[in-house]
Amino acid sequence: MENMRNSGGNVKYRPAVMKPGELGNWEPEPEKISDAPGEGSVPFKLGPEYKEEIDKSIKEFGFNIVASDKISLDRTIKDIRDPECKYWHYDTSLPNISVIIVFYNEAWSVVMRTVHSVIKRTPPELLAEIVLVDDFSTKEHWKQRLDDYLVQFKGLVKLVRNKQREGLIQARSIGARSATRGKILVYLDSHCEVGINWAPALISPIAVNRTTCTVPLIDVIDGNNYNIYGQGGGDEYGHARGAWDWSLLWKRVPNTPRERARHKYHSEPYRSPAMAGGLFAIDREYFFELGLYDPGLKIWGGENFEISYKIWQCGGEVLFTPCSRIGHIYRLEGWAGNPPPANSGLSVVLQNYMRVVEVWWDEYKEYFYASRPEIRNHPFGDISELVAFRERNHCKSFKWFMEEIAYDIVDHFPLPPKNKIWGEIRGIDSGLCLDSMGHKDGGEMGIGGCHGMGGNQMFRLNEANEMAQYDQCIHVVGTQVKLDHCDTGHTKYRGWEFDEENKMLRHKIGKCLDRSEILHQVFMSDCDEASKTQKWEFNQVMAM
Ligand code: UDP
Ligand code: MN
Repeated sequence: MENMRNSGGNVKYRPAVMKPGELGNWEPEPEKISDAPGEGSVPFKLGPEYKEEIDKSIKEFGFNIVASDKISLDRTIKDIRDPECKYWHYDTSLPNISVIIVFYNEAWSVVMRTVHSVIKRTPPELLAEIVLVDDFSTKEHWKQRLDDYLVQFKGLVKLVRNKQREGLIQARSIGARSATRGKILVYLDSHCEVGINWAPALISPIAVNRTTCTVPLIDVIDGNNYNIYGQGGGDEYGHARGAWDWSLLWKRVPNTPRERARHKYHSEPYRSPAMAGGLFAIDREYFFELGLYDPGLKIWGGENFEISYKIWQCGGEVLFTPCSRIGHIYRLEGWAGNPPPANSGLSVVLQNYMRVVEVWWDEYKEYFYASRPEIRNHPFGDISELVAFRERNHCKSFKWFMEEIAYDIVDHFPLPPKNKIWGEIRGIDSGLCLDSMGHKDGGEMGIGGCHGMGGNQMFRLNEANEMAQYDQCIHVVGTQVKLDHCDTGHTKYRGWEFDEENKMLRHKIGKCLDRSEILHQVFMSDCDEASKTQKWEFNQVMAM
């Protein structure tokens, strides 16, 4: 019976049941915490004599590897779950999982602690395998060391080596193809530690409904001292929903009363419009039916939204599971980064975003292009397969999604005004262009030689009469011209108008944009139609 359930088929699994006061059927023995470094996820601090070595490791890996190396790979951690979580009872026989971990040039002890934590805190009958996907790491000494190290796991940990750098998106699809033993795929970044009794809470909703995709509550592992704590930005229970702004940046917003009203217990899984991307679980067959990730997405970026929209709009659901907690180390400042392979032109991230909005956003894609008008006609590859998928599966509109599931997004990120005119702003007399000089958030506007394409000289004047560059609005302070975050929905940056006839940029304070004759400075002056230094024109320059 147990085996039959694990090997698939149409077995019906029972939903989780709360039994207050009766310890959950999958609850493990509490971990016995010693006082060795980092045990019980107590912050582990090293003396100043390590500073140089630590800084070097942060630059290379983004984490304090000196500290990590001194902490046991099998360390204990404290149980930071909501106390309610202990009393959930899950089906006695849940489907098994393949845990997929993709990595590229990461630090040994951090990756191995991820593997060890999964083995240590997953009931053996649920863990079919761990699949490590090495995305063509360039750190040579790793190769033999890894082969040797994995022997001890007797086949439980499988290693796949990419023959070229695929990027994390396609590496995850490769992982799905290689992970053949588990019914459910669980994705983790290569710098995680799973929490107490993390697995049943993550698996159970998928067992009950195979088109449910679950996401654990992602905790912060401090990359300096390996303390583990909950992320901010949630509601009073620390619960957030996954969101985006209209330029497709990842955001977290508090869970809503509307979501909470759907549940009896606050520790129940709740719906989220999107996921962060690195940590989630999905039925393997269902992921294949969805076509895995869009094969046209490159390296990094946008895949978390692609998978979220695809699931929601095509009949599935994304649930955040508060009782399944997994820690993730966020990169520290000073990390040299994993640069994308050399590539000229528009960043792969922006091209990925274009594919996602072109396939899934319908008329809402205008709001994406509002902040980057210059990339609108840039090529983003063939999306016909994805469009056909959407039609074949009768996937719902983005408007439906925004109204029924992502109803809270516009409260946090109001729809941006459309553009009236955009481009570089060239002084007619000087031939010099307005230039943010890369300044923002209170920095001053400047002026410089026009250099065609290049974000710093790209401006737009929108229907709310804001003049902006990406998320920065041009802000008039007396005669000064500054840049400040736009705060969409607020009115303080509104008031610009382009006087087409006189080629002047007028502001509601009654002054006009002006520049100095010799020094490259911009400021506001009394409007004067006869002044050459107040004449400007917009030139549309498309991204290459
Ligand atoms: N990764 C990869 N190939 C790449 C870049 C990243 O396999 O080209 C791996 C990386 O090692 C990590 C995961 O993908 O395990 C997610 O990347 P990262 O943690 O840098 O993303 P973040 O958490 O900052 O979004
Ligand atoms: Mn990560």
